[in-house]
Amino acid sequence: MRRATALAHDRGWPLGIRGGGHNVAGHGTVEDGLVIDLGSLRTVTVDANTRMLSVGPGATLGDVDRATEPFGLALPVGVVSQTGIAGLTLGGGMGWLVRKHGLTVDNLVAAEVVTAAGDLVRADETGNPDLLWGLKGGGGNFGVVTSFTYRAYPLGPQVYAGNLVYRRPAWRTAMQAFRDWTAELDE
Ligand SMILES: Cc1cc2nc3c(=O)[nH]c(=O)nc-3n(C[C@H](O)[C@H](O)[C@H](O)COP(=O)(O)OP(=O)(O)OC[C@H]3O[C@@H](n4cnc5c(N)ncnc54)[C@H](O)[C@@H]3O)c2cc1C
Repeated sequence: MRRATALAHDRGWPLGIRGGGHNVAGHGTVEDGLVIDLGSLRTVTVDANTRMLSVGPGATLGDVDRATEPFGLALPVGVVSQTGIAGLTLGGGMGWLVRKHGLTVDNLVAAEVVTAAGDLVRADETGNPDLLWGLKGGGGNFGVVTSFTYRAYPLGPQVYAGNLVYRRPAWRTAMQAFRDWTAELDE
């Protein structure tokens, strides 16, 4: 990673960083430049005691869910399993668990980053906290993230979920019933 970053820097090439490749604006690639494709770095390590996850920058949301589910844990992520955790996190990350546990980025505890200057640094609350703050929404602008550390939450391992679809004549009563039913529910 550091060599690739340095090469792009020395040659003056624009640098693209690709995680899951799901950015519809194409920000994970670049024309006439160098693309660092992290797609094969998909390791997810779960510490069930501390409920902390270490996630590689090429992991998809499905990789994360498959690793946490056997421990009855979940990280708040997006709703499509093929999306990359890297781009999703660096842009915020909104999904099913947002009301109870916040955005993905709210649960980012630390990151290892190769900066534009080619240095490998760790960003957490005590070291480089400003960089951690910048990563929480700053996209790929602060360097190449080589590892993410997150806080996970108990969920499942069985969950009950699905979509209910109503035709127009039932919209009003369906919404009223939903309002009444959810008023006293746990988050
Ligand atoms: C079908 C679909 C469903 C989606 N659903 C949701 C959803 O439910 N919730 C939600 O919040 N978002 C959702 N998104 C949006 C998605 O989170 C963003 O498009 C996100 O950028 C995808 O990340 P990626 O790693 O797959 O993409 P990529 O295209 O690989 O990268 C996206 C951006 O992140 C940068 N980047 C990637 N990896 C790194 C890295 N390691 N270090 C530094 N920068 C990096 C790239 O340079 C690029 O700017 C969805 C998108 C799609 C296409």
